[in-house]
Amino acid sequence: MAKKRTEHIIHDDEIEIGPFQLQLMFRESWESDIQLFTHSFFCDCNAEKRELADYKSYINNLNDVILKGRCSVCNTIAARYIETGERSGIEKIADKIRKLNQR
Ligand SMILES: [Zn+2]
Repeated sequence: MAKKRTEHIIHDDEIEIGPFQLQLMFRESWESDIQLFTHSFFCDCNAEKRELADYKSYINNLNDVILKGRCSVCNTIAARYIETGERSGIEKIADKIRKLNQR
């Protein structure tokens, strides 16, 4: 059996964003969006009530959001990729955040 990763890989184009910036990325639907995406992610354990816990949020150069955390049930690392880049008006918001957070 393949050895499991214990830490997330952060790609070069990924910039960490804060909780408020995450809300900005989802705009008015942020509450239901975050609820949905932290409860729908792939995990080997397939536990019904799993939740993405202790996650950090990132945006990449496609203006998509990636949440990286761990599964609340089996505790292995887990991530959720969200295609926010296709939402209208997102580019402006993402560009602003990227400028602010640039390393
Ligand atoms: Zn799990």
